[in-house]
Amino acid sequence: MDFPFRFEWPRHNQDRMMHDIYNMLFVGRSALINAPTGTGKTDAAISAAMAFAYKNDMDIFFLTPKMSQHSIAIEVLKGINAKFGAGIGYTDIVGKKTMCINTDVNNIDGESFYKSCEKLVKAGNCAFYSKAKGQGISERLEGAAANGHNALFEAAFNEGVCAYEIAARMAKESNFIIADYAHILSPYTRQAFLKRIAHNLQGSIVIWDEAHNILNAASSYLESHITTRSIAYAEKELASISSSIDLGYLSFVLDEMKERLLKGKAEAFFSNSDMPAELMRNIGGIAGDIEKAGLTYIEASHASRSSLIHISRFMESLINRNDSIAGIISLSGDNVRLSLSCLYPEASVAAFKDAYANIFMSGTLLPLDMYARLFGMENAGMFNYSSPFPRENRVSFIDTGVSSKYESRSIEEYKRIAIGIGRIRAITKGNMAVFFPSFKMLDSVYRYMGTEVRHIQRQMMPSIAVEKLLSDFKKSEDSMLFGVMGGSLSEGIDYANNVIKGIVIVGIPLERPNLALTAKTEYLNKKFEGKGVEYAYLVPGVIKAVQAAGRAIRSEKDRAFIVFMDKRYNWRTYKSIIKNFVEIDSSDDYIGAIRLFMQKGMQHIEKEGAAIFYT
Ligand code: SF4
Repeated sequence: MDFPFRFEWPRHNQDRMMHDIYNMLFVGRSALINAPTGTGKTDAAISAAMAFAYKNDMDIFFLTPKMSQHSIAIEVLKGINAKFGAGIGYTDIVGKKTMCINTDVNNIDGESFYKSCEKLVKAGNCAFYSKAKGQGISERLEGAAANGHNALFEAAFNEGVCAYEIAARMAKESNFIIADYAHILSPYTRQAFLKRIAHNLQGSIVIWDEAHNILNAASSYLESHITTRSIAYAEKELASISSSIDLGYLSFVLDEMKERLLKGKAEAFFSNSDMPAELMRNIGGIAGDIEKAGLTYIEASHASRSSLIHISRFMESLINRNDSIAGIISLSGDNVRLSLSCLYPEASVAAFKDAYANIFMSGTLLPLDMYARLFGMENAGMFNYSSPFPRENRVSFIDTGVSSKYESRSIEEYKRIAIGIGRIRAITKGNMAVFFPSFKMLDSVYRYMGTEVRHIQRQMMPSIAVEKLLSDFKKSEDSMLFGVMGGSLSEGIDYANNVIKGIVIVGIPLERPNLALTAKTEYLNKKFEGKGVEYAYLVPGVIKAVQAAGRAIRSEKDRAFIVFMDKRYNWRTYKSIIKNFVEIDSSDDYIGAIRLFMQKGMQHIEKEGAAIFYT
């Protein structure tokens, strides 16, 4: 089989992966691919899908959870076009808000932005949209679009046309669409998006990058909440536009539900029948009126968000909710909160079955059969590829002397963890990163660190500050980074050129038990025969730790140690999950073993004549 592959030779496992995917597509089945970083999954998946799609007149969607991950697909397509003169038409499209050049509305947040854009377009009041509609697509725009959505945005801005409209029109003519998860996973977006770009899933192969994120992302599109505080903000918005809508009744309903359902508890379930019948009877109309008032408020005050639109979205979600969405009422201080929490994104998962086939790929998609069941893809082919990097370049140990288990947390335990990190630091030549299960834990241990920690991730840190922290850390040669698991420093980020020589994972980032987790566990227990705890709680927690641990080795030349600092990693429940991803070494003296590993690394560097990273 000849694959459109941009490089001269496939890497270790890439050839096998292309054949495996092609064979699945040939028989009309989906594929789940687990392959560690460095395998070249994106190239292999795109080449195999293209080889099949273009013979069979199909389209390809390449979907990612973050827009920053679109660029790799563009590089692959450019490389294939350059090598084969293939002239593949592809379009990179991201959310409308990111592509909006209309400064009257592009500072508006979330749902309020989409409603404002829709209103402008309907009324013919967006000049950029009208201009884009009224003219062809210039060569300059086409050239820019080949470099991705950022370049298209810039060119569209210079021409004064709506970049989203241009991208959507180009997508109509493209066989390869690079887009965000939300375009297909969000049931609110999917139909309109596919209609707009004149494509369907039935005639398409969908490649899901970083597929371990799918269910969380899908759930987030289905969740919403209101609070007594947001109702108070909304009332102020109504007053500012002299609206006759009275939201006092909604505040009254929340208070009454609090008395009736909470009875002193911190949280409780609620169902739609707990809301007054007269409210539920008219809720569609009420939501529509509140949304209109929200748009008027945004227009009149040039605000960047509206609590009214937020409330109207919540009401729409109440109408659409089914058993897979739990209603939870909770109290924080005097603020009552009604949340709709997604237990399993049934409406999103249904989209997988619409496609001709799906290719789900990730470096942490294990156990594969768990994901196949969660995606409703039990018939899919499952493929697990080994790491392409030399085994001798990494050592991994479990420190069983401490635990971050909730009941074990104490000042003494924080001190023990700090001393443990200090001991590892003392033998590390070069940068070291330590990841914690929460900011609280990070702060508690940091307090007892005798060693200087220069780079610390803080809660609610703006993204610009995180970037600065990261760039400073990467420039340093012998310092320590403290961050949290599941955060922007521990997932979806490359620490290239062996910038980290060792990683310490403190604790297991398990979700703190609450009513939403209990409901999710019960729902998955019923749906997947008693697998609720494993699917909802254990595996997601361990995967966050594995993601963080995987930051150090990003290429075949990288060498690093990993220490899982929590005795629970040695327990059968957790060990059976983690061994899918990391081979754990055993030693009575892991500090000594790491020292030896570091010394061997120095000999290797001296032999290779590479730069010495410590003095
Ligand atoms: S039509 Fe385009 S430019 Fe106009 S508001 Fe919407 S996204 Fe922005």
